[in-house]
Amino acid sequence: MKALTPEPPAKCPLCPRLVEYRAENEAAHPDWFNGAAPSFGDPAGWLLYDTLLTTGFARGEYDARPDDGLQLVDCMITNAVRCAPPGNKPLPIEEKTCRPFLIDRLAALPRLQVIVTLGDVSRRNVLKTLGLPASAAPAGHGVEADLGPYRLINSYHCSRLNTNTGRLTPAMFEDIFRRARAVLTD
Ligand code: SF4
Repeated sequence: MKALTPEPPAKCPLCPRLVEYRAENEAAHPDWFNGAAPSFGDPAGWLLYDTLLTTGFARGEYDARPDDGLQLVDCMITNAVRCAPPGNKPLPIEEKTCRPFLIDRLAALPRLQVIVTLGDVSRRNVLKTLGLPASAAPAGHGVEADLGPYRLINSYHCSRLNTNTGRLTPAMFEDIFRRARAVLTD
């Protein structure tokens, strides 16, 4: 299936399970953003935006509001699966259904040089999007691989679980974006 644009509509109907989950969240939490996440607005949390600010990939202040004034610099944030899945675990069919948006998103960024993957869902989907096997970039925090025109840098996901358990510390996360900045300035 081919995406018509790199951005799905907020109420994209393509994954029935996620549409149902979105409707449940909408009823229970009408104040949440219940839709396909647009490429800027991944609500991955404070750590991501704080780290982007610290490493020069953002300016302004993050306050989790569309009008908080935060601007990304030399980067874009996007999701391999745009709609929040139950338990944060997308099904393979949902990854596949949403992939055309990621394919078109990457294709629409001709100056893209570095892809930082946050977590394994992201790593696997980027590899599939580029038509590469999982072995092209093994899992692991800080693992790097050259994939055609792109340098891929893997990071553990900045989820609350990973940060609360210390699997991912702010310093480890910052190192990833310092590496990305170093690759850009090479
Ligand atoms: S996950 Fe992607 S393809 Fe599926 S409903 Fe959401 S935006 Fe559409």
